Amino acid sequence: MQVELLALTPDPETVIEQAGRTCHMSHDRMRPDSSAKFIRMLVSKRHLSVLEHAYATFRITGISRAATHQLVRHRLCSFAQRSQRYVREEASDVVIPDSIRDSAEALAIYTGSIEASKQAYEDLLRCGIPKEDARFVMPNATTSDIVLSANFRQLRHVIMTRGAREAQWEVRALAIEILHIMTEHAPNVFFDLIVSPRGHVEQTH
Ligand SMILES: Cc1cc2nc3c(=O)[nH]c(=O)nc-3n(C[C@H](O)[C@H](O)[C@H](O)COP(=O)(O)OP(=O)(O)OC[C@H]3O[C@@H](n4cnc5c(N)ncnc54)[C@H](O)[C@@H]3O)c2cc1C
Repeated sequence: MQVELLALTPDPETVIEQAGRTCHMSHDRMRPDSSAKFIRMLVSKRHLSVLEHAYATFRITGISRAATHQLVRHRLCSFAQRSQRYVREEASDVVIPDSIRDSAEALAIYTGSIEASKQAYEDLLRCGIPKEDARFVMPNATTSDIVLSANFRQLRHVIMTRGAREAQWEVRALAIEILHIMTEHAPNVFFDLIVSPRGHVEQTH
């Protein structure tokens, strides 16, 4: 899976500070280094609506349809996903879970099933079946490309729910990658979210 940051609100933490200070008209207290303390205070007090003034857009490639189906449940994000109705899937790749890759027997079952699905897809297209119907035989493992846009409050929500210990491993890996990128670009908005030594997202405050 690859995660690429396509777009970001310019100077997002200054935008958030400007918005937040409008509540109490305290713009006169803005300093070159004041946003860190101010934004951390907002996050700690759960005054999270102010974070909605900054946005990010990601392109995610090589992610399974099993994972994108979980992602698109997040209604406050905006999505654009490669269509299986209009794009032929014969060259698409598949995700292989580690649990299957680690077992020779399971891997043989898995790859056999994938190959059979791909062959059925090809055969259906050759019979004149439209792509939108032939795709019904494609597995959940099929990779997809998807673009996700969301404001920072919603990104925190996605990172926390999908990065949690109980989340599925592939969508958790995505949440952690998004957290790494957002921590680089808006460290104070995401300061309280960390990746634990056990490999899931935890909130520290
Ligand atoms: C570990 C895990 C297991 C899951 N298992 C299943 C499962 O077995 N079956 C299944 O169907 N789903 C499952 N889900 C998906 C889950 O039920 C949610 O659909 C998904 O996580 C989106 O969460 P959300 O509604 O909080 O977020 P979003 O849709 O991203 O919305 C963000 C927030 O906005 C608010 N909001 C959005 N829409 C509304 C609304 N209409 N009314 C009021 N408030 C709103 C809520 O506060 C919400 O938390 C699972 C999710 C996780 C993380």
